[in-house]
Amino acid sequence: MDALDEYLIKIEDFPKLLATLLQEKFVDKIIGAQLKVDKKSGAIDRFTVSPVLVEKPEDFATFPLTNLIAYGYARTDTAAKFLHKSVNGAKNEKIGVIARPCDTRGIIELAKIRQINMDNLFVVGFEDRGMVINAARELKKVEGLDLTKVVKEKVGDNGLILKLEDGSIKEVGLDIAENCSRCYRKIPVVADISVSDLVLPIDSNEIVLKVYSDKGADLVEKSKINKKPLPEDLKTKQAEVLKQIKDTALAKRTKDLEEWDKLTQEEKLERFQKCTMCNMCIRGCPVCYCVDCILMKKRKEKIINKESYQLTRIAHVADRCVECGNCDNNCPQHLPLSLYFQSLNDSFKEKFGYSAGESIDDIPFRSGKAISQMELEKT
Ligand code: SF4
Ligand code: SF4
Ligand code: SF4
Repeated sequence: MDALDEYLIKIEDFPKLLATLLQEKFVDKIIGAQLKVDKKSGAIDRFTVSPVLVEKPEDFATFPLTNLIAYGYARTDTAAKFLHKSVNGAKNEKIGVIARPCDTRGIIELAKIRQINMDNLFVVGFEDRGMVINAARELKKVEGLDLTKVVKEKVGDNGLILKLEDGSIKEVGLDIAENCSRCYRKIPVVADISVSDLVLPIDSNEIVLKVYSDKGADLVEKSKINKKPLPEDLKTKQAEVLKQIKDTALAKRTKDLEEWDKLTQEEKLERFQKCTMCNMCIRGCPVCYCVDCILMKKRKEKIINKESYQLTRIAHVADRCVECGNCDNNCPQHLPLSLYFQSLNDSFKEKFGYSAGESIDDIPFRSGKAISQMELEKT
């Protein structure tokens, strides 16, 4: 996707873009983000972000943008899943969604099976290196760090970087999720606009804004935010940084999958023996869309074993897996679920030239249409 325009804007102006989306009736509702608030003390936990449906422009006085980019939505939440479950896939109303690259891939897969109406979406994407999961829990273990003093976050080459209220910067040794370190698709597949902090230092109060559609350009114009064209040197740097991140991720992915593929089928299945059938991988998967999950039902009725549970889940979602890693991130047993799916995805690409989450026009190779086409080609 090539950007029509690229700007630098103030981070504090980002909520104005969201408010304009509602004010100017681009959308009826926006899937926004909110920070967790402790019920007893009222203290804000800036490291735990959840999706929230926003209908009033005034509710966007602020927006936890750097938190969302660095930590993602906590637990099983993803923007794609929330879009499907909480607003019926935008089938009946126009929805704004703030989406990671893997969310945009999930949206494409859900649209292919008519669970989402992409015509009703305004997508605000972002470019990301990956997310630091369980940050609220892990940061408590960092010696000498007062969490109440953190004012900003960013993921850099060596993991999470924090800015404290006295202006000091601290690298805290927390890396991105294992799956994110293998993810080489760091830019949205579909978006009207996107934001990125990749080439800006943590103490910058700006963010890069890219415009991808006429609708996006119209929004930026109507929001009346101050913007300046992205300088050429930053454009070049942005392309270099994205290439370097992609190359590093691809190298890790190749190495991890080579090791995984050396295992026999029995050894791979052995890895899943620790599965407790807790359903967290299903609840977190953006492309698991059934309202009444047959596996959850069978598990409840105690009429399925862990091998059948895993194999059925793999058979159900394998050709839709967009490699978001949310199954890995939520598995209490830390099972290598995304490796299994990525290995299968590579085989599908090799055998059928098919890659999930790339384009709405790609026909899933297991669909009736694809099978008829293959039969026609044979004859
Ligand atoms: S899987 Fe890729 S796109 Fe998704 S959060 Fe991780 S790095 Fe970003
Ligand atoms: S199977 Fe796992 S990696 Fe694939 S889309 Fe679902 S949660 Fe994401
Ligand atoms: S999250 Fe892990 S333990 Fe739970 S059902 Fe999925 S694979 Fe099994």
